[in-house]
Amino acid sequence: MSGKDSLFVHAGRHSERYHGAVNPPVYRASTILHPSVAVMEATGKTPFEGVRYGRYGTPTTFAFEEAVAAVEGGVRAIAMPSGLAAITATLMALLKSGDHLLMVDTAYFPTRKFCDSVLSGLGIETTYYDPTVGAGIESLIRPNTRLVFTESPGSLTFEVQDVPAIAAIAHAHGALVAMDNTWGILTFQPFAHGVDVSIQACTKYVVGHADAMLGSITVADEDLWLRLKTSVAAFGHSPGTEEMFLGLRGLRTLGVRLRHHAQTALKLTTWLRDRPEVAQVLYPPLPGDAHHELWKRDFDGACGLFGVILNPASKPAVDAMLDGYRYFNLGFSWGGFESLVIPTSGHSIVRTATAWAPPGPSLRFHAGLEDADDLLADLEAGFDRLRAAG
Ligand SMILES: *Cc1c(COP(=O)(O)O)cnc(C)c1O
Repeated sequence: MSGKDSLFVHAGRHSERYHGAVNPPVYRASTILHPSVAVMEATGKTPFEGVRYGRYGTPTTFAFEEAVAAVEGGVRAIAMPSGLAAITATLMALLKSGDHLLMVDTAYFPTRKFCDSVLSGLGIETTYYDPTVGAGIESLIRPNTRLVFTESPGSLTFEVQDVPAIAAIAHAHGALVAMDNTWGILTFQPFAHGVDVSIQACTKYVVGHADAMLGSITVADEDLWLRLKTSVAAFGHSPGTEEMFLGLRGLRTLGVRLRHHAQTALKLTTWLRDRPEVAQVLYPPLPGDAHHELWKRDFDGACGLFGVILNPASKPAVDAMLDGYRYFNLGFSWGGFESLVIPTSGHSIVRTATAWAPPGPSLRFHAGLEDADDLLADLEAGFDRLRAAG
């Protein structure tokens, strides 16, 4: 048994195949030449095995997929061109016209948008459910419910779901469970908690440097892999080789980066919690957080993404606070080495099954790899601007 960090450093490498090179090379290939008709015909016999054509994958693809599967604790992974593509491909592979989908109300917004536009147009009905529903999900299951989609914690409001309870009910009714496990990379073991399909927006912590788009779908079951892979191949998804190389490289340092992000986030949230400008901090690893106990039961670590609800303040004052940050730059996404912030008040949080009515403006922070004391000073100077403008 090797430890997790040893696994990330070694998974999918196979240096012996590449003249001893530590990292698998970037294979740039569309056409793959075959030495004979017999070989060409043989490669087509087992679906998706071997190197046949660029779109079906090169050794770079297979190295990335092998490493991701190991990190997620699954058996096989499918590389995807983005996190959203991994989500939509999973939905398209596992649902058909007439099916019913249970989707968590706190899902990543583009996931919701896909359900409400594309899936509804195909005659696939979505019911949104309370992220804290737990075993209560049973009352929402219908005879045609084929999939329960989870995302825990929600990436804007940070509710932790009781995934094992939901999975037990879903399975008892013949439905599969998919999870957007981006926040829980490394720290939530999806397959040990009843998840059938685990999705990563590898754009975030796997790539880790805010410079590539990438996603993955991982399963612990060969039949399910074939079902997903067949659908993905039919749609022609083809993640970029350079991106997969960057994803593989990011994975090598994921363990050490993630611990640093989490340690800084805990320091910042502990400080923020006691500030007079702050109504509530949304970070399950923080003792006292509404979801702390469930997080502690199911996760063995955290990342650097958290939310803050301010006490009532004017928009110009909050804007002045955000505009003046030195390290917390304004930008979407997260998981890179740099700190980020976005305002999440108003239209960016959409819910239909549950209420979300924070007492004041809400924000989402990503704690980067800068010195925690510099980040604290940045936050403190921001509160000075908030008060001065307020
Ligand atoms: C960013 C994100 C995605 C989408 O990933 P992309 O690679 O940007 O398409 C999906 N889920 C969550 C929780 C995310 O934060």
